[in-house]
Amino acid sequence: MAAATIHSFKKPTNITTEQVVCVCGSHRLIDLGECRTPGLSRCSEFEHQVSTQVAPGRLYRCLNCHLGLRLPRPNDAVIASLYETLPANRWHKAAVEGSAQHYLIKRLRNRHREPLSILDIGAFDGSFLAAIPNGFSKSAIEPSDAAADLKKNGIMVLKPFLKPAKDVEAGQYDIVTMFDVFEHLADPLEGMRSAMSYVRPGGKLFVGTGDMDHWSWRQTQGTHWYLDPIQHLAVGSRKHFRWQSTQLNASSCRIFAFSHQPGTLGQRCSQALTTIYFGAKRRGGISRGLVRLMNHFRVFRQNAGKDAMPYTQQLHDHLLAEYTRAELGK
Ligand SMILES: [Zn+2]
Repeated sequence: MAAATIHSFKKPTNITTEQVVCVCGSHRLIDLGECRTPGLSRCSEFEHQVSTQVAPGRLYRCLNCHLGLRLPRPNDAVIASLYETLPANRWHKAAVEGSAQHYLIKRLRNRHREPLSILDIGAFDGSFLAAIPNGFSKSAIEPSDAAADLKKNGIMVLKPFLKPAKDVEAGQYDIVTMFDVFEHLADPLEGMRSAMSYVRPGGKLFVGTGDMDHWSWRQTQGTHWYLDPIQHLAVGSRKHFRWQSTQLNASSCRIFAFSHQPGTLGQRCSQALTTIYFGAKRRGGISRGLVRLMNHFRVFRQNAGKDAMPYTQQLHDHLLAEYTRAELGK
C-alpha cells in the first residue's frame, strides 16, 4: 500500500501512515489539528456523556476532492446510539428567515406554479416540506420517530436511511433536497451519488451544509464550532461541491452562501471578532499579543479560559449547492 503524505497547514511535512485516507481514495491530506472536545455546547446530557467518552479525532482536508474529514471517525455503534436517542428536531428547526431552506421555499412558491415532485432527505420534523406549496407531491427519507407523523401529514416516507434509489424510485423526482445531512455522512461521495439517483434528468438536487472555504475555518481549524457535535463527520466546501459536479454528471452547479441562523450586522461583527480571537489563541506565538490586546475588552476576556470558540451561527459559513442533473445522452 502506498504511504500517505500528510501536510501540516503552513509548513508541509511528510509523515508516513497508512491510516489516513480520504473517501475519494486520496492520501494527500492537510492536517488541520486535533478536533475540539465534542459535545460541550447545545446538546443533551446523554449526548454530552457519549461525546466526551469518544476520541474527537483530527481534522483533515483532502487536496484531491477538498472534503474536510474527522479521522478517525467514532465507530458506527456510538453514532447509532446517539441518533436513536435524539429528538427529530435536534438538528433542524423550522425554516427561518435568511436560511437556505427559507430561500428555497420562497423560490419554489414564486417560480413554480405547476406542481412538482419533491423528496427531502433527512426531513426531520417535516417543517421544510410543510412550507412547500400544497400542490407538490412530497416524499421523505427519515430515520427518526418523526417519520410516523410525516406519513400522517400525507408525506410518503420511502425509507429510513439514504441509499441508492431502487429502480422504481430512480430519476423520479423534479427536486431532491438534503439540508444538514451531508456532514453526518460517513461516505459523502456515496451519499451524494445516492441523492442524485432520485433526481430526474433536468431536475435539481439542493444540498445545504457547512462551508469549509469560509474564512473562519482558516482561523480556528479543528476547534471550529461546527465540530462540536461528534456526529459531524465531514465538512463540505465550495471547492468540494464544484469537484462533485463532475462525479454527479451535473450539467450545472451553483453555490450560494448562507448563515445557519439569522442575525444582525452587530451580531455578525461580534462573532467575526470572536472567531479572530480564538484563531489568535490557537496559533499562539506572536498572535498572543493580539489576544492580550483583545483581553482588555470584557467581551473577549470572558472567553479567556475557553479552549474552543462558541457557536457563531450568524456568520455566513454555510452554503447551498444547486445541481442540475444532465439530460439523458449528455
Ligand atoms: Zn478526497
